[in-house]
Amino acid sequence: MKLQFLGAAKEVTGSCILIETRKSRFLLDCGQRQGQGTESSPRFQFNPKEIDFVILSHAHLDHAGLLPKLVAEGFDGMIYSTVATRDVAELLLKDSAKIQKEAAESGVMPMFTEKDVVQTMDKFRVSEWNVPVDASENVTVTFLDAGHILGASISVVDISGAGRLIYTGDIGHGRSPIMNAPARLNNTDFLIIESTYGAKRHPAVNPKESLKQIILDTYANKGKVLIPVFAVGRSQEILYILKQLYEEKKLPNIPVYFDTPLGAETTSLYQHHQNYLRAEFRNSFLKGENPFHFGRLDFIRGNNRSLDVASSGEPCVVIAASGMLTGGRILNHLKTTLEDSNSSLVFVGYQAEGTPGREILGGKKRVEIEEKSYQVKLNVFYIPGLSAHADTDGLFSFVNSAELLPKKIFVVHGEPENAEALRRRIINNLRIDTFVPERGYTENFMEREVVKVVEKDVHLDFRPQFTKVGEQEVYPFAGALLKKQDGIHLISKEQYIGILTETEEELEMMLAKVTSKKELEAEAAAPAEEISEVVFKEELTKYANAGIFSRSRARELKDKLKDEGRDATIAHVNKLAGKDRLYPLDNEKQELLRKVLVAGINSFPQKARMLFNDIVER
Ligand SMILES: [Zn+2]
Ligand SMILES: [Zn+2]
Repeated sequence: MKLQFLGAAKEVTGSCILIETRKSRFLLDCGQRQGQGTESSPRFQFNPKEIDFVILSHAHLDHAGLLPKLVAEGFDGMIYSTVATRDVAELLLKDSAKIQKEAAESGVMPMFTEKDVVQTMDKFRVSEWNVPVDASENVTVTFLDAGHILGASISVVDISGAGRLIYTGDIGHGRSPIMNAPARLNNTDFLIIESTYGAKRHPAVNPKESLKQIILDTYANKGKVLIPVFAVGRSQEILYILKQLYEEKKLPNIPVYFDTPLGAETTSLYQHHQNYLRAEFRNSFLKGENPFHFGRLDFIRGNNRSLDVASSGEPCVVIAASGMLTGGRILNHLKTTLEDSNSSLVFVGYQAEGTPGREILGGKKRVEIEEKSYQVKLNVFYIPGLSAHADTDGLFSFVNSAELLPKKIFVVHGEPENAEALRRRIINNLRIDTFVPERGYTENFMEREVVKVVEKDVHLDFRPQFTKVGEQEVYPFAGALLKKQDGIHLISKEQYIGILTETEEELEMMLAKVTSKKELEAEAAAPAEEISEVVFKEELTKYANAGIFSRSRARELKDKLKDEGRDATIAHVNKLAGKDRLYPLDNEKQELLRKVLVAGINSFPQKARMLFNDIVER
């Protein structure tokens, strides 16, 4: 299995991971890069025609934004996601196509058209959370609740022969009134985790209180409150908070303009897909209320109305996209309000490097909007508690929530200091091999053979596991080892079914019998002293025949017994086993062999020496 990180590596946007297995190649997300240094016409680092399928974590454009381009360039597989993710993605992608069409008038080449989006939507194969779906012959995907935005999922990807890989996508912090807390981390071999706030802790402020105070203060100065939002997620939370404040009569009677048509459409999707939301929140729908609606709320449809509101001096609250001030109707309002020192600009979400939002939040006093320069005189605020992402504590406890910790972790979707901080925290506290890949980084994992003895002279490899082989590209293989007169042969599954008389099911049953945990435990629990000479000989011969207990090891023990005696040899065996070097197999087998050796050497050292000699001579 080969993983290649093609985006959101040491940066937040452009999520895309290419995975190649023996039987399929697929993508985890296919997102747009946004902000500084972004190509206006990005190129794929692979041939879209050769991608078998895509697993989509959620609808945000930094995860889904290049899907139509992928389809336009020949991708003809399925896109797997939840039902809600598909519906939100359709809105966001169509909106993106529309914005690109407008930009095309000023000479910017569009990446895709609305027609491409329509074709893309045909490729979706949707499921609900917790339902395993076969994405291909060797890959099964199960989506779990990520608690980030409507439909957002943690993807559990089971690759037969390669193990399990879990991709968090973006995960929430669990304190949202609308979204659930993210699911617990399942046991997994590999974990790919986001790190947007890998170095930061969300302050324990109450966003509702902060927002209330800003609105009251701004109203006292007869100013406007502008809240730039992402159409999905943040806008719904803001609406819900404002509704509560209004109903609790904590706000003055001023109008609230929801000036994002896309946000309005997404809001109705939240109503449509209630089953994805927090139970307490769903109850308000059940009671017949609309948790997103209240008396002074005004949904603005046309752009002319938006311009009217922007140019009127009336105190009000305006919620508009885009969240990082890179476009959308928020610009109408900024143009008329940036230079008004009585008004307020309230950021409620992450501001990517290189965006106007980041510049203003960073204290820049002069910004350009659509080629005109403005002074920033309004009051700038940031309310952190509304982020849709987990902070460093949330991310760490997510990793720590698994019963068995992952073998290897990749930290993505974070600027370098955030990704690095999370990596250090995981390594220092959990001692898991953790790595921050950069864009283009590739890592290979190889199948390690586990040989099990099924019949006297047939060795089958049923449970391959992957293991890392450094930077070297190694192609994994799987099959059975067949021991015959002329040596040991590696044969494919199809071949050994032809050679042996047993059916595949019978072989599986025989194997299950040999490897069943109960049997191993019973064997391991047998007291070492009670071994008989016959059993000792049989066991040793079995290990020797399988090539597991080597001649050189036998010689070493024979000499030690002769020169240093029983106790020294037993101590030596224990030391070898403790260091995992008795022979290269799993711990359980290692322990069994150790017990056999110790029991034999302990009970009949002379005879043991002769038996070791037997193996050396053979
Ligand atoms: Zn997201
Ligand atoms: Zn994201």
